[in-house]
Amino acid sequence: GAATLVTTMAACGSSEKTTEKEAGSGNNSGALIGITMPTKSSERWIHDGDNLKTQLEGLGYKVDLQYAENDIPTQTQQLDSQITKGAKLLIIASIDGTALSTQLDNAKAANIPVIAYDRLIRDNANVDYYTTFDNFKVGVQQATSLLTGLGVLKADGSKGDAKGPFNVELFAGSPDDNNATFFFNGAKSILDPYIKDGTLVVKSGQTDFKTVATLRWDPETAQKRMENILTSTYKGSVKVNGVLSPYDGISIGILSALKSGGYGTDGKYPIVTGQDAELASVKSIIKGEQYSTIYKDTRQLAKVTGEMADAILKGQTPQTNNTTDYDNGKKVVPAQLLQSVVVDKDNYQKEIVDSGYYTVDQLK
Ligand code: BGC
Repeated sequence: GAATLVTTMAACGSSEKTTEKEAGSGNNSGALIGITMPTKSSERWIHDGDNLKTQLEGLGYKVDLQYAENDIPTQTQQLDSQITKGAKLLIIASIDGTALSTQLDNAKAANIPVIAYDRLIRDNANVDYYTTFDNFKVGVQQATSLLTGLGVLKADGSKGDAKGPFNVELFAGSPDDNNATFFFNGAKSILDPYIKDGTLVVKSGQTDFKTVATLRWDPETAQKRMENILTSTYKGSVKVNGVLSPYDGISIGILSALKSGGYGTDGKYPIVTGQDAELASVKSIIKGEQYSTIYKDTRQLAKVTGEMADAILKGQTPQTNNTTDYDNGKKVVPAQLLQSVVVDKDNYQKEIVDSGYYTVDQLK
């Protein structure tokens, strides 16, 4: 029980605060862990869920893994049910990062620690830890890749030969996902100087987050917005040269709009970025349609999260490497950040295939 745990904690040299917080954990071997993921409509979350489940079951835990198809009430019900079933820890990849306060309060009351997975849960103090990728950096990588694709920068980051002006359009992710702002701010930190000096022109004039955001990261919403922009802004010989896209599903929607708008008939497409190295997008990159994606090795994220869950349930203090950047409005949540990699035609073999993320056959 708690007494044993306190002794263990003291031996680890952990602070009193941590001891108090985690003393409720007790003997948790074989405990139930609740995992809630946003949707199966994007492959990455399927990989995340599967990898976490396999790992935690390998450590002897029972796992309840749920997907909510981007429906907030479904996700809150899943959490209620996991709490009722006696879960000893919750790993949550939220749909709307501000919609889970009742569940977090209930978890706290039942002494159930919470790990926010990939997406920060906001406006509630009962978020114990956060595991994710360096989200601002993801945006920096997307913007840098857009500039590289346009030739404004060289692959090594130095100044390229292309001077522009290039017409670009901007897309952001879901406004209720904390990550979306981080990605967009990261990207804007790189693009803004080039917009200012006229190298890049956002012809639609749509540059603020609210206007360019895509609710629930929905590909069709993005496709429609791109179609509207093409109709309203790109007439005659005025062409769009590049599109900042925050996520592969959105990139596919944007590319569909571009194709219907007559782009690509000569085999050349505007530079379109992405994120997640989803199978369809890696194939599209190989075909020369989408320009790049941001590869986040979800196997690694699952691994560090599983280790974190295990440490917490054993009453230990889990490893974190960032205690400054992720303020959720109520507290700065200690985070374990991983690094992402820009993937394009030149390095997909090394990053995606050689690392075993996809097989050559899958990419055919
Ligand atoms: C994740 C991204 C993903 C997006 C859409 C974000 O919270 O960090 O990897 O592209 O959600 O699913």
